[in-house]
Amino acid sequence: MTRGDLRLRRWYIKYNKAYFNGELPEDTIVFWQPTHDASATTCPVFEVADGKFQITLGPEVMGFGCYWKMLLLHEMAHVKLWRTHPKHQHGKQFQVEMLRLAQAGAFRHLW
Ligand SMILES: [Zn+2]
Repeated sequence: MTRGDLRLRRWYIKYNKAYFNGELPEDTIVFWQPTHDASATTCPVFEVADGKFQITLGPEVMGFGCYWKMLLLHEMAHVKLWRTHPKHQHGKQFQVEMLRLAQAGAFRHLW
């Protein structure tokens, strides 16, 4: 049994289908977890095993759907680009991917 939050998992699966052609790994673990380092320069997405990812979101944003959904999409973009634009980079590839998501309507009800 994988650890994870059911609501986050449902949104991950929904976004994967809607905006990533279902190409992100199905078994990504998504759950709420406080960020201990507020000045962290890395994003809370990790490759915990080969091709297996974990995304955490801070529970302080749990009540703000538009905010955590944008964060989830942001972390999902990292998962998609992990091999070609590793880890937590926000360079050109990442920017292009976020613009693609925006143009696909991923943020339509969020911003
Ligand atoms: Zn990031």
